Amino acid sequence: MRIGVYPGSFDPVTKGHMDIIRRAAGIFDVLVVGVLCNSAKQPLFTASERKAQLESLTEEMPGVRVAAFDGLLGDFAREQGASYIVRGLRSGTDFDYEMPFAQGIPKLFPGQDTVFFMADSAYAYISSSLVKEIAMHGGDITSMVPQGIAEKVYERFQDKN
Ligand code: ADP
Repeated sequence: MRIGVYPGSFDPVTKGHMDIIRRAAGIFDVLVVGVLCNSAKQPLFTASERKAQLESLTEEMPGVRVAAFDGLLGDFAREQGASYIVRGLRSGTDFDYEMPFAQGIPKLFPGQDTVFFMADSAYAYISSSLVKEIAMHGGDITSMVPQGIAEKVYERFQDKN
């Protein structure tokens, strides 16, 4: 069984994330989407909210599972029986950030390796922080996030005010 883990904050999940999930699901028997619990000090959505959103968005995708995790990614991947970590690359900035992690993982966790997907050019500009910045000021994020997520983001910002 070829098992991959796709970790991230997904705060909120974007169309860019969903594109990577779809593409990675095509090459792994099982893809575990790992929702990082402690990524930001004050996330917009709790880890269990983010997990539930991803579960609902991936329920029709065979072989895709969602789990929340904390601590070292390599430990989480090992718990899941995964030999591969999936990451998306939007730019040289992502590349520079990812390089030491990708090189360090096999040293700390022998048998684990990282697989990168180049962002689709339609989504490469999208980040969760851009989505939050736009939504916070009432801008239109519907082209950047999957169906149903924009409303949740707007609601959350309303609750905060
Ligand atoms: P993290 O805090 O781990 O960077 P993110 O939720 O921001 O969590 O991103 C998770 C992964 O998805 C990272 O590998 C990131 O590069 C990738 N990613 C984020 N946005 C996009 C996008 N628009 N297109 C492709 N990959 C993306």
